[in-house]
Amino acid sequence: MKYAIGDIVRTKKQHPCGSKLWEITRIGVDFKLKCKGCEHIITLPREKAMKVITKLEKKAE
Ligand SMILES: [Zn+2]
Repeated sequence: MKYAIGDIVRTKKQHPCGSKLWEITRIGVDFKLKCKGCEHIITLPREKAMKVITKLEKKAE
């Protein structure tokens, strides 16, 4: 699956704020995901990100 910056994705586990939706803000060796619920930003290695992302919710425009 190919992702792009600005894509909204769903993850397996929900964030403590209750949201399961994240916006991709950076792609590379590491992925940066911004929580759509509380704007918290996490950095994940690409491999880990591929595992936790379960669905592409909305393609970036
Ligand atoms: Zn959150």
